Amino acid sequence: MRTDVAIVGAGPAGLSLAACLAGSGLGVVLVERSAEAVLARPPFDGREIALNHTSQARLSQLGAWGRLSAEEVAPLGEARVLNGHMPLTLRLSPPERAGEPLGWFVPNHALRRSLYETVAERGEARFLCGRTAVGLELGSRDARLELDDGSAISARLIVAADTRFSRLRGLAGIAADRLDFGKTMIVARVEHEKPNGRVATEWYAHGYTIAMLPLGDHLSSAVLTVSPAEAERLMALSPEEYGAEVMRRYEGRLGRMRLVSTRHAYPLVAVCARRFIARRFALAGDAAVGMHPTTAHGYNLGLSGAWTLACRLREAAWRGADPGGASPLFAYAAAHRRASLPMYHATNAIARLYTDERAVAFLARAAVLAAGAALAPVRRAIVAQLMARPTALAAA
Ligand SMILES: Cc1cc2nc3c(=O)[nH]c(=O)nc-3n(C[C@H](O)[C@H](O)[C@H](O)COP(=O)(O)OP(=O)(O)OC[C@H]3O[C@@H](n4cnc5c(N)ncnc54)[C@H](O)[C@@H]3O)c2cc1C
Repeated sequence: MRTDVAIVGAGPAGLSLAACLAGSGLGVVLVERSAEAVLARPPFDGREIALNHTSQARLSQLGAWGRLSAEEVAPLGEARVLNGHMPLTLRLSPPERAGEPLGWFVPNHALRRSLYETVAERGEARFLCGRTAVGLELGSRDARLELDDGSAISARLIVAADTRFSRLRGLAGIAADRLDFGKTMIVARVEHEKPNGRVATEWYAHGYTIAMLPLGDHLSSAVLTVSPAEAERLMALSPEEYGAEVMRRYEGRLGRMRLVSTRHAYPLVAVCARRFIARRFALAGDAAVGMHPTTAHGYNLGLSGAWTLACRLREAAWRGADPGGASPLFAYAAAHRRASLPMYHATNAIARLYTDERAVAFLARAAVLAAGAALAPVRRAIVAQLMARPTALAAA
């Protein structure tokens, strides 16, 4: 089989790239190891993806946002960060006149479904599901992808969006820096007695971190970060015991709690590829930069990278140039590094500071919170970044 662009991985990043390439005239093949029925109806995986305004606008333009039901989109009114039992709270809220939320929470499975429907309905990209990419050859004239059923695809460009533990990244000879936080994040939905006021809280308690993400007035995603051994114990609790445990750890702030979903545990490992491209090859999504979830940037960055890459590929196609050539790939890599690296390092620094139990770290957290709480320009800058709208939607 021959194509212009072969994308490995039909997760949120791979599907976003395929959606961004619709109408470009480029042939696109998506290789995904899950069955197509799973892409059409992905199971709940506990992740509630916080989307900023840029991502929301881009998903709207792609046609994916409109496919989400009202129950699947939860506006975020305010975010608060607390350190232990210190009275000081860092509050982030939209300017009063904006009349808009800070961002939105969308369940990961709903995001994946809406992106799949968007791409499938256009009918331009070809899906090869139930197949795993196992081999790679990057030549000067074209690239070749080998699949586990013995078939092969020859493409002008191969894009790997195959998770943060990307197999293709290694096959392309690209090294990656890996940071294991030695913690596990457990995510699950809980119903609670008291309303959450659409406020998300992140609370750094002693020995664990707990975040509550508002999904409805009396429904939140409880995000618990603990040691791997503790995570194993918590995953083995009965649903009733787990609900009571979350309520206890949240010190009853939202009253009685009841677990209303399955629990999902994610070991916290951040990964950043040393290079984003090779000959006729590019990394996208978590395969390029796999973020610690604490600052909720992973998919937002994945979408922004997919958008940037698609813009460069569309320009190349429009000029009749080679989409796998050096020029679009270098432009993508430079822009995506500029956008993602500062965020990656800042997120790792925050995640380290907030999972460190030493007294000195407690004081450092207190100082950071005090500075953030006291300095209105800092808070305004964070809010402005969350609520920024893209200016060049027409470019893709
Ligand atoms: C608990 C948690 C909370 C998060 N919260 C947020 C948030 O609030 N905001 C945010 O922006 N981000 C968040 N993220 C990050 C976000 O979920 C990821 O950045 C995003 O899912 C990455 O998408 P991806 O397509 O790159 O990779 P993945 O979702 O990992 O998808 C990769 C796909 O590739 C397929 N695949 C892998 N290898 C192969 C192969 N060899 N051949 C064929 N197919 C293959 C897999 O089956 C899969 O479908 C969170 C992450 C976690 C864990």
